[in-house]
Amino acid sequence: MPPSPPSPPTVVTDALLVTQDAGRRVVRGDLRFEGGRITHVGPGAPREGAEVVDGRGTVAVPGFINAHAHVANALLRGIADDLPFPKFLETVFAVDAHRTEADVEAGARAGVAEMLLGGTTSFLDLFYFEDAVARASVGLGMRGFLGWAVLDPDKTTQTGVPLDNARAFVGRWKGHPLVTPLVAPQGVYACGRETWLAAKELAERTGTLLHYHLSETRGEVHEHERATGLRPAAWLESIGFLGPGQVAAHAVWLTGAEIGTLARHAVAVAHCPSSNLKLASGGVAPVVELRAAGATVALGTDSVVTNNSLSMFREMHVAGLVQKNQRWDPAVLTAQELLDLATLGGARALGRADDLGSLEVGKRADVFLARLDHPSLVPARPDAVVSHLAYSASEEAVDTVFVDGRAVVRGRRLLGGDWSRIRTEAEAAAESLWASRPR
Ligand SMILES: [Zn+2]
Repeated sequence: MPPSPPSPPTVVTDALLVTQDAGRRVVRGDLRFEGGRITHVGPGAPREGAEVVDGRGTVAVPGFINAHAHVANALLRGIADDLPFPKFLETVFAVDAHRTEADVEAGARAGVAEMLLGGTTSFLDLFYFEDAVARASVGLGMRGFLGWAVLDPDKTTQTGVPLDNARAFVGRWKGHPLVTPLVAPQGVYACGRETWLAAKELAERTGTLLHYHLSETRGEVHEHERATGLRPAAWLESIGFLGPGQVAAHAVWLTGAEIGTLARHAVAVAHCPSSNLKLASGGVAPVVELRAAGATVALGTDSVVTNNSLSMFREMHVAGLVQKNQRWDPAVLTAQELLDLATLGGARALGRADDLGSLEVGKRADVFLARLDHPSLVPARPDAVVSHLAYSASEEAVDTVFVDGRAVVRGRRLLGGDWSRIRTEAEAAAESLWASRPR
């Protein structure tokens, strides 16, 4: 797919700007971007040659970065609710065995649409048939960090060897302006030592990130400890796998020593509280300890099979409530820190801290405008807006979204595709997948 022409210069005027800069300033002013990069933040942006977007009555926020998703599962919302974990897995595996690349594309389009309409401008995905996810992302104008799932050859439903599929996928998409391909070992329950090390070797050779599931459930941790004598994070260190450029999803069941291990190896964590709570994984991810140890923590929704939403607003809200309640301390994980997880944390985890995650000159123009007259954002005060974003704002308030300086949502309407068509195709693909679930 050829890259699209450069985005036109744009000025958003007189908005409330939640900059997420080093001072976490919230200022009234303009935002100018051209060639996909922000060139002005604050009052008095030059308007020459630019399309002017009236930002009055809106708050401009750096687009959210969803750091863990399986976006094609948008077709499976509600298919495995309220089930014990083994029955949940049986359902998901049975459906997976029937899934076609066309199903993945239909699901990815629905999921990407949902994310864009909720102010998410980047996501980190772990799945197979990622070319279909890449096409869906590019078509709708989303920035995708797309990890091809790697498993032991005897444990996969993929055609061919997963590592070879991942290598080919990276080769096809490397260098695309919106799609960043990467390698995604599924987890210790699906990957043996050789697979982990081969995935790392491939990532190093191609300069890509690694994304994987880690210590999501107690069962996973105990089984691995029984089999190898080590818990997953300690074991991954022992085989020489851990290192920078890695994003571990979940990381709920960590010991204090493992927290230090992840921080020491600069492994970032994608915290997915809604999914953990709904699957009743028990425990609470040690977000505070990870941050205190110096680890980067980002926020992810996981898939809608377990969430059941792709809303980063909901995820911030849940993440805050869980940590506060667990520790009997309302001061833990503040609204500002929650917004940091959803923006800067994601950017850092993806190795893109210098060009994503905040509204600053030189960064890519990934930004959404939310309407301040939406009930969930009242009273629209500069000194309360960060609190509203973290605790009360609804996706319905998101009006306009830019990715790489290009408008992809306007007036809550997708510009890169027709929602009624995306929805119709998703419903049709869901029909056959739902028919394949065990009763
Ligand atoms: Zn996951």
